[in-house]
Amino acid sequence: MAESNQIAEADSAASPELTLSLCKDLSIALAKFPRVALGHFPTPLEPMDRLSEELGGPRLWVKRDDCTGLSSGGNKTRKLEYLMADALREGADTIITQGATQSNHARQTAAAAAKFGMACHILLEDRTGSNDTNYINNGNVLLDLMHGATVSKRPGGADMNTEMASLAEDLLAQGKRPYIIPGGGSNPIGALGYVNCARELVEQAAATGLKIDALVHATGSSGTQAGLVVGLAALQSDIHLLGIGVRAPQEKQEGMVYDLAVRTAEHMGTSIEIARDSVRANCNYVGDGYGIPTDGMVAALKLLARTEGLLFDPVYSGKGLDGLIDQIRQGAFNHMENIVFLHTGGSAALFGYSDAFDLPGYTA
Ligand SMILES: *Cc1c(COP(=O)(O)O)cnc(C)c1O
Repeated sequence: MAESNQIAEADSAASPELTLSLCKDLSIALAKFPRVALGHFPTPLEPMDRLSEELGGPRLWVKRDDCTGLSSGGNKTRKLEYLMADALREGADTIITQGATQSNHARQTAAAAAKFGMACHILLEDRTGSNDTNYINNGNVLLDLMHGATVSKRPGGADMNTEMASLAEDLLAQGKRPYIIPGGGSNPIGALGYVNCARELVEQAAATGLKIDALVHATGSSGTQAGLVVGLAALQSDIHLLGIGVRAPQEKQEGMVYDLAVRTAEHMGTSIEIARDSVRANCNYVGDGYGIPTDGMVAALKLLARTEGLLFDPVYSGKGLDGLIDQIRQGAFNHMENIVFLHTGGSAALFGYSDAFDLPGYTA
């Protein structure tokens, strides 16, 4: 019997033969959407045995989407493969997108635009109010500029979609052909990248005989989780998917993910049914707000750096890990054997948050 704080046991999964044939069907369904190559796939799936031992729970694995290869990697690369293909199809010559100051999405978009010889305009919203010079100039901001993007700032709470639309009008008036990518690349086109990631992961596990019980990751603008929800549904997978929220409260986060999952399934033109209860977010690890460090995040990043030699980021994957570690310590996954943490990248943001870690200086 599961203890009260344990996650309910899933229904039985598809047979291995059925799984592989569903993976093939999903590949065929995705192949009709234009896609450009920006990343290195499949990303590795690796055990985290020292961390597993340290926590004493199920065996932990990491799916290395921090290794997608584009400008230090991250989850936006998968989305951009579909979004940039759509921009090229529309004949765009200029990309517009937005994010928080230390946006990993902005950095990967700037790199993708550079690769296709397109101009890139990035609007950065000051969501944290931090005056730290590293936060303002270093990390992802340094890399946005390195890739040649035009970066401008907006105050916290600005209507960023309106800001992007008005910039697009100005650029159109100048004879440019702008294409707007929403924050986080999260729309039904971008989410296709994570529909495909679900397939990639399920095939990887099948090839090695690994039975994945749960998949955990940080969820923000919701395209990652929405794509995974659709992909796992299409594969009739019983993997328990859990997003750890970094901004919105649970009800809002789950609503956003569900809405985008339904729209993504529609966009694919398939009859995949999205069950509302397949969308789960735990939003208890946000702390004081988006992009504001928490003690749990700091402890999780140090633990992973020191047990596994892995780097995560302070805004997303660090809070996601804090949630995973805390849930394991509470016994929520005790009845499970294998848990995969999807590493969504972002370690470039560490250089914008050096003050958060209170590390000792070097010895003389
Ligand atoms: C954007 C981002 C996420 C969240 O993905 P969404 O698709 O926006 O929910 C998680 N981790 C990192 C490092 C990110 O940059």
